[in-house]
Amino acid sequence: MKRSGLNTLCVHAAHSPDTAVGSIAEPIYLSTTFERDADGAYPRGYRYSREGTPNRAAVESCLAALEGGIGAVAFASGLAANMAVLDLLGTGERLVAQREAYYGSLKQFSDVTRQRGAELSLVDFRDTAAVKAAVAGGARLLWIETPTNPLLNITDLQLASAIGHGAGALVVCDNTFATPVCQRPFRFGVDLVVHSGTKYLGGHSDVLSGAVVVHEDAALLERLRGWQRMAGAPLAPFDCWLLRRSIATLGLRVRAQCQGALKVAEFLAGHPAAERVFYPGLPAHPGHALAAAQMHGGFGAMLSACIAGGAEAALRTASRTRLFTRATSLGGVESLIEHRASIEGPGSRTPQNLLRLSVGIEEPEDLVEDLAQALA
Ligand code: PLP
Repeated sequence: MKRSGLNTLCVHAAHSPDTAVGSIAEPIYLSTTFERDADGAYPRGYRYSREGTPNRAAVESCLAALEGGIGAVAFASGLAANMAVLDLLGTGERLVAQREAYYGSLKQFSDVTRQRGAELSLVDFRDTAAVKAAVAGGARLLWIETPTNPLLNITDLQLASAIGHGAGALVVCDNTFATPVCQRPFRFGVDLVVHSGTKYLGGHSDVLSGAVVVHEDAALLERLRGWQRMAGAPLAPFDCWLLRRSIATLGLRVRAQCQGALKVAEFLAGHPAAERVFYPGLPAHPGHALAAAQMHGGFGAMLSACIAGGAEAALRTASRTRLFTRATSLGGVESLIEHRASIEGPGSRTPQNLLRLSVGIEEPEDLVEDLAQALA
């Protein structure tokens, strides 16, 4: 499909009426096995569902179109997608990643590098000299998350990609928070995009999923597909169907969520009970100018705030909200609030008084009113 506007792609990429009966909604093909011809061939392209299914092909093609890559590989979770990429790391090779990022990815990085005898360098990607020092001597993978979970730090994608490539690394970007609605990492030189599809792509808190999207290296795409077949961790047909169905409204949802998040962030920034607000859409955010340059259509719908009075005050605030539900995860149509340090557990670097907010599609005025009464 030729390059089209975002919402057009969300609706039409790899989606057309079913040729057999003309159904507008995509059928769900649950079959694990597919018929061979008399000569033993598989002329319809499908053989066994671990290797590929029509629903998986549809969601993978759609994600590739949205990110502007040559192909995607869908997995049963975001962390399974990460594992496929981490399998590229050989003994003695180095992974360079951010010190402050999603804690589940950081745990994977440290476990996988230890088990493989690989090296892990964790640095602050806002410090260019530190990134250059970390890749000196070469690196296999440079792993960016921007904005980061939960501190909303912004990394310069173009600069980090150039530094990574200069060291011979493949550059990976976790685009879960921004989604292709707000950020297209391939435009800045990134080689691989990873997603937790569980968040905005799924959008309704009902489908655990993940994906790796490849920019332009066909051999790399084949290797990742091989890993997907071998590890046996592909996304199941119904989950693929749910994900593809949800992506039809991705642009509408995320743009509305970004607008709501900006209003909530502005309200919190002016509230005496919020000591600090982390949202790249606020001019006072240290990464605002960079985010404005490399993001588009909004600054994402995740924000965090440190509440005056410490962990107790933060927990008390979260206990009083009525529209924001206390739960982990993010990206759904419903707003969530979370005391982040306690879910990350021992070793968390997140401030004890930090609340992370995932802004849904409710009316922003209602969300602001809810926070106002919770902070009162
Ligand atoms: N990447 C980011 C930025 C996340 O926030 C998460 C989960 O919260 C993941 C990856 C992992 O995704 P999943 O929970 O689908 O395995």
